[in-house]
Amino acid sequence: MLNFTVGPVMCSDAVRAVGGEQVPYFRTPEFSAVMLENEKLMLKFAKAPKGSRAAFMTNSSTGSMEAVVMNCFNGSDNVLVIDGGSFGHRFVELCEIHEVPHTILKLNHGQKLTKERLYEYDGQGFTGLLVNIDETSTGVLYDSEMIGGFCKKNNIFFVCDCVSAFLADPFDMARCGADVMITGSQKVLACPPGISIIILAPRAVERVTNRKVKSMYFNLADVLKNMERGQTPFTPAVGILRQINTRLKEIEAAGGADVEIARVAAQAEDFRTKIKELPFEFVSESPANGVTPVHPLNADAYKIFEILKDEYEIWICPNGGDMKNTIFRVGHIGYLNHEDNTTLINALKDMQKRGML
Ligand SMILES: *Cc1c(COP(=O)(O)O)cnc(C)c1O
Repeated sequence: MLNFTVGPVMCSDAVRAVGGEQVPYFRTPEFSAVMLENEKLMLKFAKAPKGSRAAFMTNSSTGSMEAVVMNCFNGSDNVLVIDGGSFGHRFVELCEIHEVPHTILKLNHGQKLTKERLYEYDGQGFTGLLVNIDETSTGVLYDSEMIGGFCKKNNIFFVCDCVSAFLADPFDMARCGADVMITGSQKVLACPPGISIIILAPRAVERVTNRKVKSMYFNLADVLKNMERGQTPFTPAVGILRQINTRLKEIEAAGGADVEIARVAAQAEDFRTKIKELPFEFVSESPANGVTPVHPLNADAYKIFEILKDEYEIWICPNGGDMKNTIFRVGHIGYLNHEDNTTLINALKDMQKRGML
């Protein structure tokens, strides 16, 4: 199997080996040490400001998006949501469900967020901003520092969904001034799905500690209190947390976050060069490193996904909704190399020879 989706992605051999081990009991000093090491490396890789904390949540990242909306905002907020695709829209739905007053800044699919467009909302009393730094559905990368500057100027609580951007695109939590950043185990962390990590800068730690949230499982104050000793309120996905530990140490040993980001960028660049020979078009104005959305000029995008899967054992990522038949995505995250790109391009060339493209 060769997997070019945007999650779950291919794991390294060391991470897979940990997955084959028995899962240990976790209320132990040994497991606490693993958790505290995970926290230390996550904060380092996110370039989180001093005093930041990490919450390891046993849920997919949508659960963490929901936990953040519930713990950081309430009915007295006025939140600006950047909605440029299905992940941006998910924040809109979460604000609706949890009755957080919000305004939608709608972007067309593939469109980047310009400074001019964002500053239309300057000085209007917003208290929060929600954005997916890489809107994975369209592969658009938003400028975290430009948005951070806007938030600083307006004293806005700044939430970054970095689920697919963390370790794929440059992100400096301290410099852009993000209060919260979210990521998940199955994206660039290249582990199985099941864990999502929320990093909270000091202002966010203070905010969630003083909030009463109507939830037992999504109570971030409780999560952070337990995490002081490297523990979680309830049984976490212990095996995946151990795989994350292996993976974080692997990244550290290879040179840290910036080296991994450069590796993903080179993987994307290699693919984007090689695919130019085929009858496809790129659709993103400001492409993120993690994924390339591709529009086939003469064929159905979903059909290409099916044929690659069924006849070549290669998985690309189909799109949902109204992009299903026009756009497929190719991921550059996980345990992939340039040779794997060549294998995919050769399969597509073979399909072309067979008259399918
Ligand atoms: C993958 C992803 C998510 C989370 O999806 P889950 O299925 O809940 O893990 C959220 N936001 C972005 C930008 C993503 O790429």
